[in-house]
Amino acid sequence: MQILIASPEVRPLAQTGGLADVAGSLPLALTRLGLGAAVIMPAYQSVLSNPALSFEDPGLNFTVNQAGENISGSLLRGELAPGVPAYLVRCDRFFDRPGFYGTGGVEYPDNPERFAFFSKAVIKVLPQLADYPDILVGNDWQTGLLMPYLAVSGLERPRGVFIIHNQGYLGLAPPEKWPVLDLPETVNTIDGLEYFGQSSLLKAGIVYSRALVTVSPSYALEVQTPEGGQGLDGAMRHHAHKLVGILNGVDYNLWNPETDKQITANYSPNNLKGKLKCKKALLAEAGLKGRSQRPLVGMVGRLAGQKGFNLVDEASADLFRLGLSLVVLGSGDPFYEGLARNLEQRYPEAGKVFIGYNEALARRIIAGSDLVLIPSMYEPCGLVQMYGLKYGTVPVVRAVGGLNDTIRDFAGHNPEGRWDTGFKFSQFQAKALVLALRRATELYARPADFKAMVQAGMKEDFSWDNSARQYRDLFDQVLRA
Ligand code: ADP
Repeated sequence: MQILIASPEVRPLAQTGGLADVAGSLPLALTRLGLGAAVIMPAYQSVLSNPALSFEDPGLNFTVNQAGENISGSLLRGELAPGVPAYLVRCDRFFDRPGFYGTGGVEYPDNPERFAFFSKAVIKVLPQLADYPDILVGNDWQTGLLMPYLAVSGLERPRGVFIIHNQGYLGLAPPEKWPVLDLPETVNTIDGLEYFGQSSLLKAGIVYSRALVTVSPSYALEVQTPEGGQGLDGAMRHHAHKLVGILNGVDYNLWNPETDKQITANYSPNNLKGKLKCKKALLAEAGLKGRSQRPLVGMVGRLAGQKGFNLVDEASADLFRLGLSLVVLGSGDPFYEGLARNLEQRYPEAGKVFIGYNEALARRIIAGSDLVLIPSMYEPCGLVQMYGLKYGTVPVVRAVGGLNDTIRDFAGHNPEGRWDTGFKFSQFQAKALVLALRRATELYARPADFKAMVQAGMKEDFSWDNSARQYRDLFDQVLRA
């Protein structure tokens, strides 16, 4: 079976969030199962100009017609890993820009054109690929149009599977953009792409795929509710028969405190000395020296409304009264970046905020903290809590989506005799967050019990192999249907 994964982000080529981790890891995990897998993504400026990446230009040129205009592009070829091809769709007019989707918090106004072009291009180059796919996987709104394009292409293969990593990003195109999507008017209805007077590229993927995946079982249920559906809960209920939740995995070759070269010291469940070194180094880096006896809380992630930083802001006085220190790394929405900066100004002795995207620092924070806080309003899967587990950093999370599916709330031992792995809270309220952190700091004050929880988390297994097998079974079903 041959799989082609189309994604707007693929680690390590381009990344803003967890989608890139998945698009970078899933093909390798599928390959390990004996399937053929490749990825295809836009040739962004940062990818082409990165001297560490090499792509060859085999002279595969094509044109895509968009609202009557012929736009030319080409296909570049490289490798994600030995035996796993990575294709880039090059079109400098659309992708030779500083950002992937926009700059300075403002989206590029021609995103519908850009990703309609990308999706059209993927369908167009299929016959040129050495390994013609049986399954074409789309990921999030940027590739939603692949599904109707496949449907109208009349091709028997590949069959389209669409993964929703985040239903909060609808990929909206206003009515005047409809012509660039190049689809029959009959599909711009409530049963098709129409979304409250606009067209949603995400909905295109939902409606026209053969199978639909959300990145955790809990999220598959939440997106069918008015609270979690982002206006698409009706569509999700309508297509629930083809919907399944498959938890993302973690690539433990990349995320492992025993081998991670970017952290201060390596450590393992049975020898945690290195973790204390990581904590001291992080405190020094954050200008919080002398606080190593106190619980250190880390946060790493996009600063977007979804991630619940407003709760941290609201809870800040109570939170620091617990005696903890807080280190935040994030970037994104200027409003939340402002909230974070302001928090550091108010609590300089206990809090440090780094604004920016910095993987090495993310690793130092995940390794050096005692607790990792993820108070999301919603969380389709979430990777940071799984990294936290592996790095012995106890997750404190809101009980939603993948956070709910991966963390067992502290009650000591659970019925299976295993230690629980973290702290959960349900209400999206500052009070609830503070209560969860209080429970966590109380356990921290009992070192032997806290260590038992740390070690239990480090032994959890969220590797890709299990998730990849679920994807393989799903692809099998889609091909047999
Ligand atoms: P989401 O996909 O919603 O962004 P996830 O938890 O699934 O959230 O994945 C986030 C990924 O992006 C993790 O690998 C995390 O380490 C990384 N990440 C997010 N923000 C930053 C940042 N500012 N610096 C470094 N890594 C980041």
